[in-house]
Amino acid sequence: MVCFTICINKSFANELAPNRNKSGESTDHIQLKDRYDLFINGEFVPGVEGRYFDTINPSNEEKIAEVAEAGKADIDKAVSSARKAYDKTWSKMLPKERGKYIFRIARLLQESAREFSVIESMDGGKPIRESRDIDVPLSSAHFFYYAGWADKLEYAFPGRTANPLGVAGQIIPWNFPLLMAAWKLAPALATGNTLVLKPAETTPLTAMKLAEVIQEADLPPGVVNIVNGAGETGKFLVNHGDIDKIAFTGSTEVGKYIMKSVAGSGKKYTLELGGKAANIIFEDAAIDQAVEGIVNAIFFNQGHVCCAGSRLYVQEGVAEEVISKLQKRMESLIVGDPLDKNTDIGAINSKMQLNKIKKYVKLGKDEGGTIYQSSCPLPEKGYWFAPTIFTDVSQSNRIVQEEIFGPVLAIQTFRTVDEVILKANNSPYGLSGGLWTDKGSKIFKVTQDIRAGVIWANTFNKFDPASPFGGYKESGVGSEGGIEGLSGYVNLV
Ligand code: NAP
Ligand code: MG
Repeated sequence: MVCFTICINKSFANELAPNRNKSGESTDHIQLKDRYDLFINGEFVPGVEGRYFDTINPSNEEKIAEVAEAGKADIDKAVSSARKAYDKTWSKMLPKERGKYIFRIARLLQESAREFSVIESMDGGKPIRESRDIDVPLSSAHFFYYAGWADKLEYAFPGRTANPLGVAGQIIPWNFPLLMAAWKLAPALATGNTLVLKPAETTPLTAMKLAEVIQEADLPPGVVNIVNGAGETGKFLVNHGDIDKIAFTGSTEVGKYIMKSVAGSGKKYTLELGGKAANIIFEDAAIDQAVEGIVNAIFFNQGHVCCAGSRLYVQEGVAEEVISKLQKRMESLIVGDPLDKNTDIGAINSKMQLNKIKKYVKLGKDEGGTIYQSSCPLPEKGYWFAPTIFTDVSQSNRIVQEEIFGPVLAIQTFRTVDEVILKANNSPYGLSGGLWTDKGSKIFKVTQDIRAGVIWANTFNKFDPASPFGGYKESGVGSEGGIEGLSGYVNLV
């Protein structure tokens, strides 16, 4: 039945709609402008210096639109508009009124979910199945969740008064562009802050569409400002004197730099940084289920996932079976057009990221690792990388220690529970982890002893707005999601 439906779609698709790919999502229904300006004080305005940069589709290297680049003067304008909105309207508004605006954003986002999914996949390269089923629904779920908290902060922080911080500068990465924007905006707004958001340079478009939603929701001007640009634009925001808080999601390298920049300034900060998660398969696990879990842990979103299970530890007795089943499964993964709903692995987000992945794969080989890559065909144009695993690697190898942020898995074996806990903790990161076993006692022991913010048992990469997400060690400071996500935006008295 399923196959029949797919065949029907395929055969009619090309005849009926020239804009439709094989089993692909139509792009007829999306509305994109050729040029996007900065979103400041509720309006789209050109940058003071008049500079624009292109955002491209990484699956075909074609330009989608050009986007205004914010310089220092634009950041000044955006911050002062956020300050004015904070002083005059947003911090004075009854919390339940603030909540209504956030509910409105959530609903509008839900109504435009299809359009948002297609644009997210075009701009960033992720498979439509993921943007449609994960990124976009989770984004609206975040707005719904925090909208509900807006007038209940006294229950989130019993016996305390939660005052907003003021103006927040928020900087996000390219791997989950809309979702990261939702993680930043929703709790900041619910707690009464105003903000200036800087999306990543390669994926500005869904943030610009979100700006349109914010206009439609009639949010008071200046409460949300969205400014695009590269790292330099982010720096202007971090160093601005009238910002009360910096919320950053990105690499550990830039996170450390931000920490140094804000030291002594009185600015609060939360940092959601990199990861190198251990995914552990015990002999008593349901092996077929675990193999699916490995695939999801490392190949979801092309491995561009901070909490990706990029270090696999398999107990010796099942190592051969797991690796051979994994290789077989890798052969069935479809790499290709992000807008095709059958695609499992989309395009690598940028040429720069592709080069980084290639550099690490060469390093892995030079260090003596044995490589296995899926033999799937890769499209000629665009940025692609085949699913890749390495065996014969050890803890000291760079591909085991450093975050690659691509579809590349380093596999090692272990004998005992204590050994694998030691190995899992032997990392500068501590964002996430996973284990596969049918023994509850092992789940309790391992989750207690591994130093990571989130650990999944017999599943991986599951997210919920009510569940906090944050890292130990070099994976960050503070958490997003849940009540913890509110506390990063309030002064408790
Ligand atoms: P990145 O290079 O650190 O960039 C993140 C954001 O910071 C981008 O908007 C970037 O602008 C901007 N930026 C770059 N240099 C800056 C500077 N000196 N000052 C201020 N802002 C600056 O990270 P990425 O490559 O975009 O994202 C991948 C990283 O994010 C990975 O390490 C991943 O693990 C991490 N991540 C963490 C989480 C989490 O929740 N812990 C979630 C998702 C991703 P440009 O785009 O123009 O460079
Ligand atoms: Mg792009």
